[in-house]
Amino acid sequence: MADQSSAQNLLEKLKQIAGPYAEYALRGRKKYVDLRLRQDQAVRAIYLRSADKLAKEIRRLKRLGTGSEMNMRYLAALRDSLKQNGIGESLTELLKKDIVKAVQAGSTFSLEVTMDQLSGTKLAKEPLRRAFFRVNERAVEAVWARTHNGLHLSDRIWRHDQKYRMAMSEIIQDGVATGEDPVVTARQLEKYVRRGRKTLAVDYPEMMDRMGSRIPQDVSYEALRLVRTETAAAFGEGTIAAAKVSPSYVGMKWVLSSSHPVPDICDDLANADHGLGKGVWPPGQEPMMPAHPNCLCVLISVHEDTGSFLRRLNEWTKNPEAQPDLENWYRNVYSEVA
Ligand SMILES: [Zn+2]
Repeated sequence: MADQSSAQNLLEKLKQIAGPYAEYALRGRKKYVDLRLRQDQAVRAIYLRSADKLAKEIRRLKRLGTGSEMNMRYLAALRDSLKQNGIGESLTELLKKDIVKAVQAGSTFSLEVTMDQLSGTKLAKEPLRRAFFRVNERAVEAVWARTHNGLHLSDRIWRHDQKYRMAMSEIIQDGVATGEDPVVTARQLEKYVRRGRKTLAVDYPEMMDRMGSRIPQDVSYEALRLVRTETAAAFGEGTIAAAKVSPSYVGMKWVLSSSHPVPDICDDLANADHGLGKGVWPPGQEPMMPAHPNCLCVLISVHEDTGSFLRRLNEWTKNPEAQPDLENWYRNVYSEVA
């Protein structure tokens, strides 16, 4: 995550944009930040658990008399073990939960603002809650349906599973090829997932000379990057989907994270001028989060000033045709779930 001061800076920006609804903006933001802060450890734990099981299995096999040097029998047994204790299922489970939570975090602001704005009116709140709930579900589906280079999220998760199994297999195979003491091979696996290829190269230079760059430097970091990207995408999907349910939605503002040392695409998104204010995108043209891997920028919906919105709402209750956008909202969003 970004350092303390840039995180603080982003909070200040959100507060300013949300104005009287700052509390809701901060609530949504907190849910998202809490989620992201937990992910580093959660992803790492998945890799550690799997690698430690594998190392334990090697030591067990040695105790059972499989051999004092790595051999083909170890290889066959460990391949099975790797298939059962891969990281694909665990990563899928983690992402399933986190995508739901990120969508909810994203929808928090629009939901709360809308409920607040309508609190003094006669409109029943329940249909609206249902509408928000339903778009959240759809946003979750949309994240899973996204493709990147032709691959769905589930395919990309399995690619990481495959990468991990290949890296672990390389180390095991090297042990077999050189007739390594199984205890040493077990230790190499444990070290590799904890400290990466470079550390392994310091402790076992010859092995690394043989293996070269066939194994990634930090195998869990690559998966973490995927998890972060998809969580950001889910937050964005949730934010946009929920805003569209709100009758006071005006546009979507791209808020630049302060940890952008050099100008990039995010600056363009944050400075775009569509006549709705700096960086505010019209409904239907919202930019997608994240703009690049590890992008910490966020979206926040901009809503009509509550005074003017309530005046229009009041007019609409007397004469629906006088406020065609509200009538349209009532027919197509509100009544749909009533
Ligand atoms: Zn960015």
